[in-house]
Amino acid sequence: MPALIVGNWKMNGLGEDIAEIAAMAGSGARAVWIAPPFTLIDRAVIVSAGAVKIGGQDCHAKDKGAHTGCVSAAMLADLGAGFVIVGHSERRRDNGEGDADVRAKAAAGLAAGLEVILCIGETREQRDAGQTDAVLSRQLAGSLPDTAEGLIIAYEPVWAIGTGLTPTLADVAAAHGHIRTELVGRFGSAGHGVRILYGGSVTPANAGELLGVAEVGGLLVGGASLTAQSLLAIAAAA
Ligand code: PEP
Repeated sequence: MPALIVGNWKMNGLGEDIAEIAAMAGSGARAVWIAPPFTLIDRAVIVSAGAVKIGGQDCHAKDKGAHTGCVSAAMLADLGAGFVIVGHSERRRDNGEGDADVRAKAAAGLAAGLEVILCIGETREQRDAGQTDAVLSRQLAGSLPDTAEGLIIAYEPVWAIGTGLTPTLADVAAAHGHIRTELVGRFGSAGHGVRILYGGSVTPANAGELLGVAEVGGLLVGGASLTAQSLLAIAAAA
């Protein structure tokens, strides 16, 4: 299974930036996915022509209804998106989303036929207090959907996102090993098939060593995913 490199553009990208996705798609790189802002998904699906899977950064838990400003998983699928990220720590922080919300969004994404990247991770305070495993267990218990089919987990230490800081490779291995144990405990043998991504200050310089860690099946990349040059350098490390 080749490593999967997923770019999360967050609230970045205007029409002119579609050229970056076109360049990624034209590069021949495999297993590169991009989650642009909602406003670019339609154009991104067209220019990527299937070479780069396009996804959403969030979705509502319901299919449709009176939820002004929200986008459903069914709407993402209708645009040609192939995946959705749920539970990103910036959604949890800025929008007060808890594990039950994340679980409902994950279920909605899977029901719409999307692959779901479910993000979990501890804060600096929780790590310093020795609570990392307990936090990851609690988040998984509260947010995992009923099936492992179509599910991807992203381990993203909150303190590593956008800070230039990364855990030691041993800490990444320990967290991913713990997540694997939890997934197998929850889903049985199907838990072995769930890909686990690492995310948090990934760059072309550190991608290779992170991908070499046991149970790291790919990377979720924020800032370094905004240009084709940078993201393709990370993909080359895969
Ligand atoms: C992210 O937000 O998912 C992320 C990993 O961001 P960055 O790579 O910028 O730390």
